[in-house]
Order: sequence, then structure tokens, then C-alpha cells
Amino acid sequence: MTLDAAPIDYADPDLHAKGLWIGGRWLSGRGIPVTDPSTGQTLAEVADAGLAEAQAAIDAAEAAAAGWRATPHRQRSEILRRMFIRMTEEAEALARLISLENGKALSDARGEVAYAAEFFRWYAEEATRIPGEFRRTPSGSHNILVDHEPIGISLLITPWNFPAAMATRKIGPALAAGCTVILKPASETPLTAYAMARLAEEAGVPPGVINVLTTTQPGPVTAAILADPRVRKLSFTGSTGVGRTLLAEAAKTVVSCSMELGGNAPFLVFDDADLSVALDGAMVAKMRNAGEACTAANRFYVQDGIHDAFVAGLASRMAALKVGPGTDPATQCGPMITRKAVQKIDRLVRDAVDRGARIVTGGSPPAADGFYYPPTVLTHVPPDAPIAQEEIFGPVAPVYRFQTEEQALRLANATEYGLAAYVYTTDLTRAFRVSRGIEAGMIGLNRGLMSDPAAPFGGVKQSGLGREGGVTGILEFMEPKYLAIDF
Ligand code: NAD
Repeated sequence: MTLDAAPIDYADPDLHAKGLWIGGRWLSGRGIPVTDPSTGQTLAEVADAGLAEAQAAIDAAEAAAAGWRATPHRQRSEILRRMFIRMTEEAEALARLISLENGKALSDARGEVAYAAEFFRWYAEEATRIPGEFRRTPSGSHNILVDHEPIGISLLITPWNFPAAMATRKIGPALAAGCTVILKPASETPLTAYAMARLAEEAGVPPGVINVLTTTQPGPVTAAILADPRVRKLSFTGSTGVGRTLLAEAAKTVVSCSMELGGNAPFLVFDDADLSVALDGAMVAKMRNAGEACTAANRFYVQDGIHDAFVAGLASRMAALKVGPGTDPATQCGPMITRKAVQKIDRLVRDAVDRGARIVTGGSPPAADGFYYPPTVLTHVPPDAPIAQEEIFGPVAPVYRFQTEEQALRLANATEYGLAAYVYTTDLTRAFRVSRGIEAGMIGLNRGLMSDPAAPFGGVKQSGLGREGGVTGILEFMEPKYLAIDF
């Protein structure tokens, strides 16, 4: 057997540390160490792109643009479908790779791969159903024809918390729309992005349609990309702070922006809720990805009559979770992404305790080489404590007591964020009334998980602009063109 015929192990970090993926070629380089959060050890080193490589990526995306735009929708669809198939075939290896570089529990990583691959299947279907419009004007003066065209070269910037899904949620619709892309993944988790570049090549994505670069200078590199008039779209997922900076940068060349930013999700439990359903939902909403999710329940508001039972149930479930390395199949709560992340969580918890909060379970990080924080439940947290205002992004559940629906709504909306919210009640009228009153782009009603490729994902207020997924996600990568017609 020749070496070439040996099966590729997609979970091997070295396989994905070949360099930048530009124009269908690996551009070798080094300079960014990738750390295993379970041990603090370096896993691999990936290339560090500068301005010249950024320019090369734009040139490659430009060279491929006309051909990809002209590729029939059915053909684009079939390539996306093959990407879904390849990701599904390599699901176990990809899950291990995600677990290695991100730290998340293998069960969470498997869930992520399945979710991520679905964006390719969904957009393989949507690619053949791009909407148009034909109408007569109300005055009868002429006809209106609206076509949708690919917006152009798109810069995709993704975070580390879902290294596969945040990339496919952008690549899927962009390619379906007919755009070529430059993906800049987070430096903490670049290996998954490079693994997907390899799978895309195998699925038949032409050179230059997807380009991937990693950099230690995201500010100057993305500013240079956005300053190039050939780049017409920025699709960003990450923190609200970086989102604000990028919106200002994009304003200079009036680049279209889709922004999936931070969250501070309230989780409301009313007296009439089914306790065990609420606890099941709470564990999913809080502990998927060990709390490192933009949709993670950040504040639990629980009505007086059910509060104590909810706290007891949540604390016993949280305390029973097995904390350990992500790649250990028994692990239910993996490490945080970095030591800095642990320190931030620790600071928020200590500050809350200083203000009178009580620790029901967890509450202090172990001394370990990996970046661990234990599942924690807090009560008696003052509503104005920083832990109620900031994204915790970790396995900490502060529980606040409320008396009335009006009070719960006021507390839930007292934040600059508006991404996700959860409501638990068995009263249908209350369910809809409260859902309408909450300022959020997504509501989980008696349900702790809302992410689905077929639904519009996104937030209001400072949680973002635009939606990913669903039937409108593809339009984020298209521009309507209106023809005024007289026959
Ligand atoms: P981050 O904002 O620090 O980084 C996100 C990406 O932006 C990374 O690729 C990073 O390298 C890049 N970046 C950082 N500074 C930059 C700059 N000056 N210019 C250009 N790019 C820059 O976020 P993170 O810590 O990677 O991810 C966690 C955040 O992402 C949380 O706030 C979370 O809520 C948010 N998030 C939101 C969604 C959503 O769909 N709304 C989904 C996942 C994560």
C-alpha cells in the first residue's frame, strides 16, 4: 500500500497545521500555537497570516468569484450536499478534533458536528429556491421585478466556542448564494476550520471559493480586507465589543454587515411550570458546551413558589456532573477555553459573593494544569451585580427570586443584550404574553435548546444584526436587484 492510500485521520492535529488555505493550496507557515485546554499543552502550531497573505486571499476569492457565481444553482447545491456527506462521514474524527482544541465534552462536540453539517444540507436545499418577485405597482404605472444576486466576496469571522458550526452557518449560505469567502477562524480553534477546508476540497469546492487564514493580528488584517473594494460582506460571530469595532471598520467602505454577537439570556420559571421539565431545560440551556454558548442561560429568574425546589434540583444535577478532559467519553463538563476565561468566571463569582451571594454548589476552580471551573449554583445575587450584566460564558448558574410576571419581565429586559431567552410555564396565555414582552430574537418556550438550521438565528439590541439559518439566511449574502419594467 502506498502512503497516499493510507486512511486520513481527521482528528490528527498535525494534519491541519499545514498552513493557510488560499486559492486551493496550502501556504506553509507557523507562529500560532494551539493549546489543549484539558492539559494546557500545545497541540499544534498553525500559520500566522499578515497583510500579504490577506491580499492573496482576496485575490484568490476574486479569481474564483465569476466562475462560482455562474455555477448553476443545482450544481452548487450538489457540492454543498457532498460537504454535508463528507462531514457526516468524518463526524467522529471531527468531534474528537473539536474536543481536543476547544475542550468541550465529546458528547457536545458530536452534537456540534451534526448541527454544523446540517447547515450544508439545509443550504444545499435552499440554493435551488432563491426567491424572486414580480408585481405590478399599486398605481399601475409599471411592473416590478426583483431578482437576488450574490453580494460578492465575503469575509467570515468566527469564534472559538463552536469552531465547526459557526463556520458552516456562514459558508453554507454564502456558497449557496454564489459568493466566494475568506474565513478567519479564532486562533484558539483553527484546526477544525482547516479540517473543513480539506473536506470542502474533497467535496469538489473549486479552488479559491473558500479561503481560510489564521492570524495573530485580527485587527489590521481584517481592516485591510474590509478596505479592499472587492470585499462586499462581513459576517461576524463573536463578542459585542469586537462587533462594535468591526462595524466601525466596515463603515469606512460601507460593507454590508451581519452580526451575531453576545448574549445574556434570562431563563424564567413561573410557579405553574413543570419542575422536572424546567430542570431538564435548565441543564441544557446552561450546560451545553459547559456554558460557553451565546445562547447560554445567564440569569435564572424563578418565581417564589417554585424557587426553592428549583434551586435544590438544579444544584443536585450540577453537582453530579462529571468534570474532566473533553476527549474522555465520560466527561459531561469539559474545561474552559483558556486560563483567562477561568479567571474571569472566578472574578464574577467572587464579586457576587462579596455582594452577598451564596454558593449552593461549586464556586472555586481546582488547582490543575487544564482550565477547569466546576458547575456552580448561586443564590441571593443582587440583580445589579456584574454577573447579571456580563456574559458568564461558563458553568455558573445564578438564581434570582421574583414575585410577579411584571417584575420578571422588567428584570429579563434589563440588559443591553437580546439574543435568547427561555420561558417555562404551563399557562398558554402567559407563555405567549411573556414571549411577546421579552426583548430577544429567540425564545425557548418550555425548551432549553433553540438552535436549528431551519430557523432564523440572531438577536435584537446589542446582540446583533441580521439572521443566520432559516429561509432568510441566504439573503444575508445576496443583494436584491429591482428592475422597473414597461412592456
Ligand atoms: P471574540 O469577539 O473575542 O472573537 C471572535 C472572532 O473575532 C475571533 O475570530 C477573533 O480572532 C476575532 N477578532 C478579535 N478581535 C478582532 C478585531 N479587532 N478585529 C477583527 N477580528 C477580531 O469572541 P470569542 O471570545 O471568540 O467568542 C465568544 C463570543 O462570541 C461571546 O460573546 C459569544 O456570545 C459570541 N457568540 C455569539 C454567537 C451568536 O450567534 N450570536 C455565537 C457564538 C458566539
